[in-house]
Amino acid sequence: MDMARQPRLRLRITAAAESALRGGHPWLFGDSIQQQNRQGTTGELAVVYDRKDKFLAAGLFDGESPIRFRVLQVGKPKVIDGEWWATQLSTALKRRDPLFDDQTTGFRLINGESDGWPGLVLDRYDRTLVIKLYTAAWMPWLETIVTLIQEQLRPDRTVLRLSRNIQSAVERGYERKDGDIIQGEPIEDRVIFLESGVRFEADVVRGQKTGFFLDQRENRRRVSALAAGRTVLNTFSFSGGFSLYAARGGATSVTDLDISSHTLQAAKRNFALNPETVARCRYQQVQADAFEWLPKNRQQFGLIVLDPPSLAKRESERAGAIRAYGNLARLAVAHLEEKGILLACSCSAHVNAEEFFGAVRAAAAKSGRRFEEIETTRQPPDHPAAFKAAEYLKGIYLRFN
Ligand code: SAH
Repeated sequence: MDMARQPRLRLRITAAAESALRGGHPWLFGDSIQQQNRQGTTGELAVVYDRKDKFLAAGLFDGESPIRFRVLQVGKPKVIDGEWWATQLSTALKRRDPLFDDQTTGFRLINGESDGWPGLVLDRYDRTLVIKLYTAAWMPWLETIVTLIQEQLRPDRTVLRLSRNIQSAVERGYERKDGDIIQGEPIEDRVIFLESGVRFEADVVRGQKTGFFLDQRENRRRVSALAAGRTVLNTFSFSGGFSLYAARGGATSVTDLDISSHTLQAAKRNFALNPETVARCRYQQVQADAFEWLPKNRQQFGLIVLDPPSLAKRESERAGAIRAYGNLARLAVAHLEEKGILLACSCSAHVNAEEFFGAVRAAAAKSGRRFEEIETTRQPPDHPAAFKAAEYLKGIYLRFN
């Protein structure tokens, strides 16, 4: 970007937005910007000045998104140069250092805003890295970042993934598309990586998220520890993540239920990748809509995992989602044997933890069965949440009489 002759883009904002930024909020919406010295270009650095004309924050300007500005630096002014970026990256990497041993080679290295990289995610799958962008404001910086990544991580390749809402703008403006290999060797098919010693494939080029639901690792580990001797139903199974852990933990049978034949095929391949892990476990699949299958069938299970996709993609869907979570839990409890365990999860940021836990507990109470709460869980450590809207994942474990 040749911005050399332009004065720095300067923003003045409302008092409310000012205190939000000071309090650590990472975004500015268009309607909280009161003044700007010129029109900005998506991706350029902008500086926010406060009421007293003092530096407040530096960040990325985005002319195309309702989130008009994303914070890179708040408080004291700092020069955002090569060294600054290198430190940003190494800080995020160091945070993961103590979390994993060599039996886990798939995890999140950068979790967007909460790691100081607003709208950018970096995931590792063995020697393949995936950068996922949620704003086109990163595009002018992409080369710088890929160079840094090569210096600090030396991957075999780096894949670019784009959230749906920026795909066409990026294709037009930067001639890059979702799934492009932007550094390193072409990709054969899918990438194989390890999670807690279990082998999984990730479709890093086309798959949901960056190819795998890395955020459920901690819950999968808990399921493994609870599964011994149980028959397990894994609803919304995707590629069978929970099922492989259940099989490894000694489940006698596992049933994957998903609406998509594509994900069920991936689950079959994941089972085939781990023959010794699943040898003593009977494996079945059901391709169905969980909301229809659960009320129609009577089969009983010793452990049921409910991990639906986000049921509230926007605020207006919140109340309906809370009802749907309660409904799903009610349907699942009817399939639980005596002493059966339910794990219910929600990945909707619009439904907060207490609302979700409340809906599941209420459904459990309505069943008329006695139950105890084993525990509730939140974000995993490689997906830290530094502000409210980043907290999306929650799980609740109940054991029924
Ligand atoms: N538990 C998984 C992730 C689940 S993602 C893991 O740990 O990897 C949500 C899954 O729900 C997707 O695979 C999607 O195909 C499936 N799905 C969406 N709507 C569904 C429905 N109504 N019934 C059954 N499966 C559904």
